[in-house]
Amino acid sequence: MAAEIIDGKAFAAKVRGQVAEHVARLKADHDLVPGLAVVLVGEDPASQVYVRSKGKQTLEVGMKSVEHKLAVDTSEADLLALIDQLNRDDSIHGILVQLPLPKHLDEDLVINAIAPAKDVDGFHISNVGLLGTGQKSMVPCTPLGCLMMLRDYHGSISGMDAVVIGRSNIVGKPMAQLLLGDSCTVTIAHSRTKDLPEVVRRADIVVAAVGRPEMVPGDWIKPGATVIDVGINRIDAPEKGAGKTRLVGDVHYESAAARAGAITPVPGGVGPMTIACLLANTVTACCRANGIAEPEGLTA
Ligand code: NDP
Repeated sequence: MAAEIIDGKAFAAKVRGQVAEHVARLKADHDLVPGLAVVLVGEDPASQVYVRSKGKQTLEVGMKSVEHKLAVDTSEADLLALIDQLNRDDSIHGILVQLPLPKHLDEDLVINAIAPAKDVDGFHISNVGLLGTGQKSMVPCTPLGCLMMLRDYHGSISGMDAVVIGRSNIVGKPMAQLLLGDSCTVTIAHSRTKDLPEVVRRADIVVAAVGRPEMVPGDWIKPGATVIDVGINRIDAPEKGAGKTRLVGDVHYESAAARAGAITPVPGGVGPMTIACLLANTVTACCRANGIAEPEGLTA
């Protein structure tokens, strides 16, 4: 039986709708407008696209969007001064520094300079610690989006065997913490994992966050498993014409969809959920900063 497709595009639109409702309520009841500041250093083309998209969607849900575009040779001291200014600005509830940063800037230092309550990417060491100890935190957007889709599809995922392939700080590790928080039995696989196919075959839930095009073939997937494909890889597509490319995930979609119970496509799966969760985190941060009950269903 073919897998059910988990439509991340539609789900992200629903999340944005919920965010917009909360934003309208915050304005009407508390005269508050959640504000998101995005800081971009340099002119990396992919980062510019992300930042544009974040700004546009922030405005569309009725929030305030501020963009700080800094020159590629901006000093660490100047960047830290801007973060300090944003930390003190009561109209800004979320601060996101677009990664990667140019090589001369210390990413850890910069991220840890953001006030944890405004760290809507959830990368600050305090938020990592809070998540790891099961306390209220700001949760990294991509794993949060994956969790929301899993909860939506399954209801409860308690007791399920989950494998996360990839152990990065932005996807793999926080994803594993979230699955553990929802009482899955979690295995984290990585480049040194022995017999990855067997590890994946045991899983009721497979989250692939590797960055290697179509590396997980369908015959690794346990029949009926749920597959969340985080990978975004651009590959050549000569069938579309000379020089053309297309996006694929870390999972071989056609063969995996033939065995899985449910699967996220690439594009249109996890990708759209990431910005939706960034908006959700900004509303959550605004509510927490003002002692207002935070929206249900928009965080872990
Ligand atoms: P990283 O490169 O930081 O991490 C990749 C992980 O994959 C590492 O832990 C690495 O293991 C592991 N890995 C590499 N090769 C293998 C292998 N052969 N077998 C098993 N594990 C392997 O990537 P990210 O976590 O930042 O991103 C992963 C993917 O997700 C990328 O395609 C990225 O574009 C995409 N992404 C998508 C987002 C979205 O919005 N949908 C957001 C963020 C990322 P080791 O640690 O041992 O080296």
